[in-house]
Amino acid sequence: IQEQLQKLAHLPSQTEDGWQMNLAANISSVKELDLVIRNGASGVGLFRTEFLYMDRSTFPQEEEQFVVYREVAERLQGKPVVIRTLDIGGDKHLDYLALPEEENPSLGYRAIRVMLDRTDLFKTQLRAILRASHYGSVKIMYPMISSLEELHRANELLEEAKQELREAKVPFSEEVEVGIMIELPASVMISDLLAQEVDFFSIGTNDLVQYVLAVDRMNEQVAHLYDPYHPAVLRMLKMIVDNAKRFKTHVSVCGELAGDIRALPIWLSLGIKELSMSVQAILKVKNSLLQSKYSDTEGIWDELSKCMSSSAVIEVLGRYLETDLA
Ligand code: PEP
Ligand code: MG
Repeated sequence: IQEQLQKLAHLPSQTEDGWQMNLAANISSVKELDLVIRNGASGVGLFRTEFLYMDRSTFPQEEEQFVVYREVAERLQGKPVVIRTLDIGGDKHLDYLALPEEENPSLGYRAIRVMLDRTDLFKTQLRAILRASHYGSVKIMYPMISSLEELHRANELLEEAKQELREAKVPFSEEVEVGIMIELPASVMISDLLAQEVDFFSIGTNDLVQYVLAVDRMNEQVAHLYDPYHPAVLRMLKMIVDNAKRFKTHVSVCGELAGDIRALPIWLSLGIKELSMSVQAILKVKNSLLQSKYSDTEGIWDELSKCMSSSAVIEVLGRYLETDLA
């Protein structure tokens, strides 16, 4: 099967009736780039930068980060890479950053919350990303945004980082796009406001499912309740996409659900044109995409919106899924 799938890598990424859908990769390290390129990904839709900070004893300096980000940008040869600023805390921790023990780490001090406190670390990372933007198509993404204030503060710091580079005459792209993860229910509910202030949304279904359903994504005991096909999740997806459309904000999906072929009819019915997933999932999703008909997806949302349970959702999706894989 793998050999057959590999042949799809160079085919255009579209449905049988010509609806284009970009299939990008989620990566955590430069090592994964070989496979990203081999599998014909449209770019990197999520570069998780945590791993640059892990397994070491001090923070990586600006230069060190820049070298990594530039390498990714250059190797993609003009295809975009979305670099997410440090998403530490919750399940990911750093030995040299003494974060307090917390009763509820995923509701605690993490990601953008830490970075807006530790502006030294944030600006170092932003300068490194900005510098890389001179060498390819680089976009910046903030994780865990819950309010306009956080977005504004992050953008202020980004503006300071840009100004510092300008003064030092270090080149960067003035057009670098800025987007946010939509992964908290709060950001879904204000997605109309957020959409007016960013270039793109990337829906993080991993955390979104956790927070919508109040189910810790790391806790085995409640794993059976962690349900991406819950009607509550579907309604949130619809709301995000509707608000983004109103303001012509680009939307992609980068949580695990993007790489699950069963979900493909959802994305088609919502008119989503970009998915980002683990490198291993790309060709499987592409195989299904190539067999799907966009024109068949028109009625799907109507049916999904009436589902009263996730098993009903999965049943509907099963009827629309086109794949020759088991
Ligand atoms: C997500 O939350 O869906 C996501 C893509 O980010 P992470 O899994 O790194 O939290
Ligand atoms: Mg997340």
